[in-house]
This record gives sequence, C-alpha cells and structure tokens, in this order.
Amino acid sequence: MTAARGTIADQAVDVKLHIRRLVKNFGDTEVLKALDLDVSDGEFLTLLGPSGSGKTTLLRIIAGFENVTSGEMRIGDTDLRSLTPSERQLGMVFQNYALFPHMTVADNVAYGLNVRKVRGPKRDRRVAEMLEIVGLEHLRDRKPAQLSGGQQQRVALARALAYEPEILLMDEPLGALDRSLRLQMETEIKRVHRQIGTTVIYVTHDQEEALVLSDRVAIMSQGNFAGLDTPMQLFRNPPNSFVAKFFSDSN
Ligand code: ADP
Repeated sequence: MTAARGTIADQAVDVKLHIRRLVKNFGDTEVLKALDLDVSDGEFLTLLGPSGSGKTTLLRIIAGFENVTSGEMRIGDTDLRSLTPSERQLGMVFQNYALFPHMTVADNVAYGLNVRKVRGPKRDRRVAEMLEIVGLEHLRDRKPAQLSGGQQQRVALARALAYEPEILLMDEPLGALDRSLRLQMETEIKRVHRQIGTTVIYVTHDQEEALVLSDRVAIMSQGNFAGLDTPMQLFRNPPNSFVAKFFSDSN
C-alpha cells in the first residue's frame, strides 16, 4: 500500500522503516542526536542538508555499515540492529559503489539475484525486465567500462532493484555526473520509482534534486532534523529560520 505517500507518515499503518531516539557517537562527538523517523511503504524520502550534518552516517547506519550507539530501528517487526548488511535486504546505489568491471551489464544486474539463489529462467526474466525498465536491454552484453557515467548508474539502479529490496538507499548517486545528465537521471529515477514503488531513502546536498524527486524531505542540521515535510510545505512554510535560510542560501 502506498496510501500514506507524500504525507506525514506518523501512523502505525504503512510504515516501512521505524526509527526512534537514534543516537550515533563517534568518540565523544554525538553525530546523530536522538532522531525519530518513520518512512512509509513506497515513499521517496530525501535526506538533505549541508556537509557534515549527518546524512551519510544515517544512511550507513540503516545499511548496517555503522553500529547504532543507542535507539530503535525496525523494518516491520524486525530489529535491524541485529542483522548484518546483507541480511537487511536493502538495495544500494552509492556514488562509489562500483559495478563489477569484469562482468557484463546483464551479469552485474543478475549478481544480487545469484547471491539470493534466484536462478535459471526466473533470474533471466527478472534481469531482462530490469534492463527494460532502465532502458539498457541493447547494452546487456557490454562491460561497464564501455558505458557512459549515466548508463553505469542505470545499471547500478537495475542491479539494486532486481531482488526487490525492502528499501533502496541512494547516496549522492548523481554526484559525479554533469548537470544535463543529472537532470536526465532525475527524470529516470522518478519514473522508475513510480513504476516499481520501492521505498527510497536518498541522500543529497542538492536542493533542486531533493525538491524534484521526493515525497518528503528531511532537512538535517548538526545531527538533527531541522525540518521534515513535503518539499512544497518546507519551501512555502519553513518551520524555522535554519530551513528558511538553507533554502534562500542555496538559491
Ligand atoms: P554528511 O553526509 O551530511 O556530509 P556525515 O554523516 O558524513 O555528514 O558526517 C557527520 C559528522 O560525522 C561529521 O562531523 C563527520 O566529520 C563525522 N564523521 C563521519 N564519519 C566519521 C567517522 N568514521 N569517524 C569520526 N567522525 C565521523
């Protein structure tokens, strides 16, 4: 169900990811300060904020690459803190999360399916379906080095989505692309999200990208959420001076 999409998702129904009082310390520094967050099933949520505000740390904690200092983090009834990254069933598209250079496009997309023991015709159908969704069927036998940056990110997206992850995590996936390609990929990501309906948590410091893509935006400042709402609400009715200044500075 995606009924709560685009709304404040505080109801128990339809919540995909549930986070309460999440704290992360690095040494003596509290980098995430008792965060509360519910992400709805099918929602596209973006973490937006200045460098050092805690966006990547929060994403890495959800992915399982960093431990939680304290607090709760669940998908449904499953406590994520007890699971390794691969047990969490999350898809990842990170700027530096490279494709396997020695494998073809199709084999890259099939990788996650093989790991999860989806084999044979079922796997091949799924790979073909994902390549069609990202418009790369004709390049299925190429190696990553023979693709443009935008095409490589499309393969990474297809690979991450192929095994139907609980949540797709994306950290600055378009950061390395030039502006026109970025705009094109924004459209692509939005279309794929509409088509597949996966829950997405997306990290960027690019305000325009966040406003275009997201159902809701969490604006981070020094390990807190300074604002958490639909892009329209945050832009038109900033809840505090930090959010207002953040938008006016970035314009
Ligand atoms: P953002 O993604 O918003 O740029 P980060 O989550 O990368 O912010 O960083 C938040 C804060 O945590 C920063 O002050 C950063 O220096 C600190 N930090 C991140 N990773 C580590 C680490 N492994 N060890 C110590 N401090 C870290």
